[in-house]
Amino acid sequence: MIAVEILAVAAAQAVGCPANFASYDVAYIGDKQFQIEAEFQNPQTEFGFWYQPTAERPEGQSESIHDLTAQDSQGRDIDIAYVGYGEWKTSQDATRIRYTLLVDHDEIEWPHGADEVGHPFGDGYYFSGTAFFIAPSKNRPPCTVDVQFHGPENWTLTAPWAVEELHGKANSFGDLQDNGFAIGPFEAVTQNVGALSITSVFDPRLAKDVRPFVSNVLDDLLPAYADYFNGKPAADYSTFHFGYSSSDGSAFERSFTLQYEWPLNMTERPMWAHVLGHETMHLWTGVIQRADHEIEWFSEGFTDYLTVKHLYREGYLDDEGLRQQIAGFVSRHQLGKRMSQGVSLRDAGQNKGQNWFLIYGSGALIALILDADLSTAEPGSFDAVMAALYADSAEPYDFDRLMAFFDERSDGRASEIFNAVDGGLRPGGVNALLAPAGIGIAGRMETTYVSFEKNCRKKRGCVPDFLAKPKRRK
Ligand SMILES: [Zn+2]
Repeated sequence: MIAVEILAVAAAQAVGCPANFASYDVAYIGDKQFQIEAEFQNPQTEFGFWYQPTAERPEGQSESIHDLTAQDSQGRDIDIAYVGYGEWKTSQDATRIRYTLLVDHDEIEWPHGADEVGHPFGDGYYFSGTAFFIAPSKNRPPCTVDVQFHGPENWTLTAPWAVEELHGKANSFGDLQDNGFAIGPFEAVTQNVGALSITSVFDPRLAKDVRPFVSNVLDDLLPAYADYFNGKPAADYSTFHFGYSSSDGSAFERSFTLQYEWPLNMTERPMWAHVLGHETMHLWTGVIQRADHEIEWFSEGFTDYLTVKHLYREGYLDDEGLRQQIAGFVSRHQLGKRMSQGVSLRDAGQNKGQNWFLIYGSGALIALILDADLSTAEPGSFDAVMAALYADSAEPYDFDRLMAFFDERSDGRASEIFNAVDGGLRPGGVNALLAPAGIGIAGRMETTYVSFEKNCRKKRGCVPDFLAKPKRRK
């Protein structure tokens, strides 16, 4: 998994976009080869896509590109040369490029998984757009990009773009490249909650054990999220699921991909639910737009905390599983402080990969402590704050605006908790903050013990109410 999760989606078509701004014509010509021809209204000299070098493929995904040519507006051939890092340059403005993509990606192991590159499954293909579509590197206004595929009659196209048969309309080059798509003899499954539509494609090998599980999780979580935030985002979203040598997940702008260890390891089921829950939670938390990277701890940490809270409420985690997840927040925070020494939470988002533990662990811990604090004083109050934040999401949030929002509704507690976690909390310090809410914490650097029984007089079911019961909104 790598940090491809994106700032909220800007879908609006900019005024002044020319008709036929950009179009791709993609033909499957057999033998694992696609022939791609792209035409651009605003001619360019620099083109590229994602660069992910490996030991076997020092030039990454670009090694699967063959016979690349470019033409000017008069149709004359012009020089185009690879300049490294997944980038090509033409000698003068190019209106058209043409290339063959050989689907040989599955011959090697990719550092972040096949889900970030491409993979054949079930007689068809999955790709991430950044490994398939070479696009202008600069000057990318948010204008519609058309893609027409040609392939065998029984092939379907699944992508978050506006899709009609084998034609797709992406909102922009970003939308084209920063998403997954599947093309092949697939039968997609669509689940709707209001204006939110999630379309999923499965590897046939996953039909028996994974597909029904994924459908059930989404059937349970999507309405629960909509209820929790008192609203539903309008979006077309796609998910892709295939078997692979190892499990992984990747999130793109309007899609995510899960690869499942094959043969299936059913012990991973709670993890599948967690990844599904986390990625779909982003559909709601992503509506709360970020102005910059200073609230990455919120985007990831609150998303993960709220996912765990809902997985427990919907029965995908039992008490023991919930304790493990809370222990994970505390342990990740400890590891994050050690591995990202001297990095503040506000700065950590500048390098998400490097500060992963700090961002996810500390962010989730802030959410948990704030929920415990507010909801112990007034049941349901943290949940109401989250719904209010979702409702008030029209303008992007920077750090100051977000903290002001929380502080106003928590009498300044949010800043106090943020500062305490940002400064670093040992397990004893976390315990002091959570014990009043009925959660006992103990531990060392990498090990955390969580108890719900400390102040609990019940015979069973000692999970604090703020985690256990959905609150009725007033
Ligand atoms: Zn995330």
